Amino acid sequence: MLPSVGPVSHSGFSRRSFFRFAAGASALASMPILTEGRLAFAERPKFADPNRGIHIDANENPLGPCQAARQAIADIIPKGGRYEFAMQEDLSETFARIEGLDPKWVMAFPGSSEPLHFTVLAFSDKNKSVVIADPGYEAPIWAAEVSGAPVIKVPLADPKDAATHDIKAMLAAASSPGVIYICNPNNPTGTTTSRSAIEYAVAKAPKGTVLLIDEAYIHLSDAPSALDFVKEGKDVIVLRTFSKIYGMAGLRMGFAVARPELLTRIASLGGMSALPITAVAAAKASLLDNDLIPARKKIVADTRTETIAWLKSKGYACTQSESNCFMLDVKRPGAEVLAAMAAKEIYIGRIWPAWPTHVRITVGTPDEMLAFREAFLAVMSSSTAGLVAPSLPHKLATHPFTHLS
Ligand code: PLP
Repeated sequence: MLPSVGPVSHSGFSRRSFFRFAAGASALASMPILTEGRLAFAERPKFADPNRGIHIDANENPLGPCQAARQAIADIIPKGGRYEFAMQEDLSETFARIEGLDPKWVMAFPGSSEPLHFTVLAFSDKNKSVVIADPGYEAPIWAAEVSGAPVIKVPLADPKDAATHDIKAMLAAASSPGVIYICNPNNPTGTTTSRSAIEYAVAKAPKGTVLLIDEAYIHLSDAPSALDFVKEGKDVIVLRTFSKIYGMAGLRMGFAVARPELLTRIASLGGMSALPITAVAAAKASLLDNDLIPARKKIVADTRTETIAWLKSKGYACTQSESNCFMLDVKRPGAEVLAAMAAKEIYIGRIWPAWPTHVRITVGTPDEMLAFREAFLAVMSSSTAGLVAPSLPHKLATHPFTHLS
């Protein structure tokens, strides 16, 4: 018998109360800021002990911060009574030095969700659309709900194979200047968009359009960064986060990188407050750890490759991911599989309306993926008909504020 997976609560904060809060906050025109964690949390059914079960539903990094980052956090604790703005500047300077950027073109935020949200608010409105890939990361949709911008979803090209952003179709859809959001690698498919396609977007985007290039997962892939377009002074904003390869989702740190005029527009909406010095210290230590990126990229790639090969051997197709997540075609309503897996305390997530038989799988540890495999085989060998998961993102993807009660 499955536990209830309807509107449920976790730590006393229910999906319903989140959206009540969200609706109230939206009246302020700047909040809420939708994050991957919040989406995963909203989808996650009730479970007695939050430490139980396997969570491969939020694209988190089970490795957490690297050793140097942990040490940096411990070392900085005695200074916790100070604001330490100089440390913040030093972090941006460190990143700028590594990437060959002017530090004035780098702005630190507690994660990249804030600058994503603020970019949409700053550069879109009811006459300036937001163009996104579908399936794609939903956060810009939520922000567009606040700015009043029309959202144009453009299906991924070649969905059965490369599942790449259809840049030409996205440009054609961008009838007015606004925001074109390119997530590379894409969340949820983990697939990448080629350098030449991004070059084309930079060259051909309607004048006044901002290309928002989200590189949350870039270090897990072989895709080249778009930071050089920023250096050339293009209308490009690149987002980076420490939540993925650096394993700092709970610590919160990220960057927006762009020409100072663009950063000023973003900053005018928020983000000038002090950042937690623990996160600043951990981020700097992570940036200076030369082994971190290659080592973790390999760990994730090995586990992903093995899991996908196994799924394929069982007859299930997956997207060609270069990231810590991929889409898995379960050949039946994905929501049913999600609910059945949750009943076994394996939390996978989530489903995108454009691909209703796919579920997104986050690459966890090898042991977590073995537990996933075992539960998945059991679920797929039984009937899941009629099982329902909360499926909140379905609703979010259409109209976030119409499903509050
Ligand atoms: N962009 C994408 C595509 C993501 O998947 C995420 C988180 O999963 C983020 C941005 C932002 O993450 P954070 O606010 O933790 O930096």
